[in-house]
Amino acid sequence: MPSAGLNVLRRAEMCLANIAARNPRVNAVVSVVPRESLERQINQISEPQAPRRGIAGRIFTIKDNYCTRELETSCASKVLQGFTAPYDSEPVELIKKAGGIIIGKTNMDEFAMGTNNDFSRYGKCLNPLYPDEEISPGGSSGGSAAAVAADMCEVSLGSDTGGSVRLPGAYCGVYGFKPSYGLLSRNGVIAYAQSLDTVGILSKSIDLVEDTFDVLNQYDPNDPTSIDPEYRAQIAALPKRDRSTLTVGVMEEAIIDMDPEVQQAWIDALDALREQGHRIKTVSVPSLKSALPTYFIISPAEASSNLSRYDGIRYGYRAPSDREEPSGFLYAPTRTNAFGAEVQRRILLGTYNLSSGQYGNHFEKAQRVRRKIQLEFDEVFATPNVVTQNEVVGDVDVLINPTARTRALPHGQHKSAIEDYINDVLTVPPNIAGLPAISCPWGQGQDSVGIQVIGQFGDDKTVLHVARLLEALQKH
Ligand code: GLN
Repeated sequence: MPSAGLNVLRRAEMCLANIAARNPRVNAVVSVVPRESLERQINQISEPQAPRRGIAGRIFTIKDNYCTRELETSCASKVLQGFTAPYDSEPVELIKKAGGIIIGKTNMDEFAMGTNNDFSRYGKCLNPLYPDEEISPGGSSGGSAAAVAADMCEVSLGSDTGGSVRLPGAYCGVYGFKPSYGLLSRNGVIAYAQSLDTVGILSKSIDLVEDTFDVLNQYDPNDPTSIDPEYRAQIAALPKRDRSTLTVGVMEEAIIDMDPEVQQAWIDALDALREQGHRIKTVSVPSLKSALPTYFIISPAEASSNLSRYDGIRYGYRAPSDREEPSGFLYAPTRTNAFGAEVQRRILLGTYNLSSGQYGNHFEKAQRVRRKIQLEFDEVFATPNVVTQNEVVGDVDVLINPTARTRALPHGQHKSAIEDYINDVLTVPPNIAGLPAISCPWGQGQDSVGIQVIGQFGDDKTVLHVARLLEALQKH
């Protein structure tokens, strides 16, 4: 094996050693590729000509809702138990082509529905920052965030529908980036709510977050929601703003009840930016408070429709009684046995919201509110939105607020589904409007707080730039 390959093999072996040592407790990684696959992947990396950035030789794990040819893909659900996809999802393929090394799949909330990674057929995942307590890593990409935090990989792909890479990123003290909707292909990523779902990237290194984003940021004709080349060209042609003095917006609606240490971290981050000469400005997105209810109407509606394909015939699990049922009932026992409580709750909620009696009252209204939220965000930003084509009236480069109201919580602390849903209050607005957003660790280890940077649609690079600024400010 060439020397670059040996170096990669050493790092992969370190990750595997961390999996062996820490995963029995943390339960972040649910499957690992066979040794031959690891060596084959490493042998395929071409020798770099010169030291360079990029993801070649970087060690990845992938959330269990990405189709992979080599490993089972079950979305941590019993309904897909035993399902191995006949193809690699587009993001997995792109990572492999760019020389990324995929070593395993990660734990998650079933079908990406949850905020604590406790609804999983693999059992709950624990936050590795807390070796003595059963603290949640956040969800739904809890396994990905925990795997990164515990050095079981260098980068992990998660998915973000309403905060599922940013919340676990915040709880585990790592970066969690949700790019603009439609920039990264979701082809082969199992849908939760397709108008909100994005591929997400978690890592301790902002360079690796950006390098992975660069590899995945491509038009995919096989994903009908992929932003097409014409819009990509418009994004590239947007006038470049002077980044030496940024205008950072603080949404007054984001000033909500939160833990004092979270609020303090927010103030500290803003103060540090101000000291560097950036301008902090209070702005208003009046409908922000409607984002959470809007999300919990739209996402279960889309989920209930997406999950109808799990009928015991096409994929994975079928209840034994289905085969023997003389009356002809086929679906009910399979779906009753195989979907967990949270997924069943979402199916009921979504089916209700889409029923003929409620559609106009709930789903249609939620779509209107969604549009309103999008337009209000447009009014704040200095960069035009290439999708809505609104006139620019704002002067803000990025918005900054905490990712979550609290730091990581003990498993099982929340007794009701509603309490869990409320935790998403600060993460769902970017999904509703399709905006790029990253959770950045502010502070170290258990003391870290997730600070969220949100940008205009397509302005992902400015969001990543501000994440770097925040990192640099902490080193001073
Ligand atoms: N916690 C949110 C939910 O349960 C977000 C999940 C996600 O982003 N996949 O819907």
